[in-house]
Amino acid sequence: MDNKVSMEEVVNVAKRRAFIYAGSEIYGGLANAWDYGPYGVLLKNNVKQAWWQDMVMKRGDIVGLDSAILMNPKVWEASGHIAEFTDPLVDCKGCKQRFRADHVEGNDCPNCGGELTEARSFNLMFKTHAGPVDDESNVVYLRPETAQGIFVDFKNILDTTRNKLPFGVAQIGKSFRNEITPGNFTFRTREFEQFEIEYFVKDALSAKKAFDEWVKARFDWYKDLGIYPDNLRLREHEKTELAHYAVAATDVEYNFPFGFSELEGIANRGNYDLQQHWDHSGVDPRYFDEETKTKILPHVIEPSGGVDRAVLAFLVDAYKIEKTEEGERTVLKFHPRLAPIKAAIFPLVKKDQLVMEAKKLFSQLKERWFVEYDESGTVGRRYRRQDEIGTPYCITVDFGSLEDKMVTIRDRDTMQQERVLMNDVINFLEERIK
Ligand code: ATP
Repeated sequence: MDNKVSMEEVVNVAKRRAFIYAGSEIYGGLANAWDYGPYGVLLKNNVKQAWWQDMVMKRGDIVGLDSAILMNPKVWEASGHIAEFTDPLVDCKGCKQRFRADHVEGNDCPNCGGELTEARSFNLMFKTHAGPVDDESNVVYLRPETAQGIFVDFKNILDTTRNKLPFGVAQIGKSFRNEITPGNFTFRTREFEQFEIEYFVKDALSAKKAFDEWVKARFDWYKDLGIYPDNLRLREHEKTELAHYAVAATDVEYNFPFGFSELEGIANRGNYDLQQHWDHSGVDPRYFDEETKTKILPHVIEPSGGVDRAVLAFLVDAYKIEKTEEGERTVLKFHPRLAPIKAAIFPLVKKDQLVMEAKKLFSQLKERWFVEYDESGTVGRRYRRQDEIGTPYCITVDFGSLEDKMVTIRDRDTMQQERVLMNDVINFLEERIK
């Protein structure tokens, strides 16, 4: 953690460089709603793609799912969300503002110092109606997590695929929570995206082992994608914090500018969820174990992360202000897999032949990666611009290139330059970006 940044700096660079804008800005915004701009959407897609490749494609024991956001309300009765997905809410008797009781210290209103009411339960699920009639019979909820879709489809997946325990089901998608106190930029919002896995195993003993493996796997995933290890830590939940059915839970936390906070939770949920859906739906979700010729109700480990929180952590961690010979530069040192733009191609100056060669190279590279062509301003300025959006490589075509068919590739982090044959540029990038 060489230079700790303020949240304000991160919000500024995110806006200035087309990563994240305030939602509905021309109408004065909507509190705590954010839009991902042209580079933000690339970064976010790369985070989701890295997760999907590493957790689904490369493992071989996990399959994907994309379940609906709107589900039969009985799902939320069975899961316990209707009864228990609540936060303690307090009201200020003076200014009438509302707060999450566990986010307030003492009994005074953080806004005006007035007296707070007793805490009462506030359900975080967004409620709406399906169809044109607006009454209790057609209430639906926006899902507050993607996980229940996995449990509800578990039997379908068993019946229609050849998965053998242990195996997992992964899902990325939007979730909604009517948070009492959203804030800290995209850290806590009411609409957000999650990446969740339910990893099913045979019994409690296997679950214990799988839990430890998942805690390590998820910690390492953030580290391998470039988060400075000192900025990550694990926090084991106290027994008193655990839901009554949960056997264990550990959070991966990141050192945000506002302190260490949860990026992702890994929980050993026993066989609670499948049992609940069995009880409520009457449909037996058990797995037939060929070895023992018995039916098993699998136990499950749930690594549940937030895409937006991960993006924010990668953004904060990548942000650096560095002293250079010419003064200072702002640079986003994203891991090359996450960088929105992988390379920028410049003609040294705007001369026909250089422009032609640079555009030719750009056309080849854009078939494989998001790359940019830029011919305006000095090369130094073009480097600075790319540094600020985190582009790992800048490729310049100069007069020498016309003779020796080589280009200069400049590395974002070391600022070193090397000459590479134009025909080798694709290999050069392929080796470094993956
Ligand atoms: P918190 O204690 O911060 O409210 P949580 O423990 O309720 O989070 P989980 O229910 O475990 O969160 O959700 C899994 C993940 O989903 C979290 O680790 C987080 O990354 C993400 N997440 C949850 N709520 C939000 C939110 N309001 N905004 C953005 N991401 C969220």
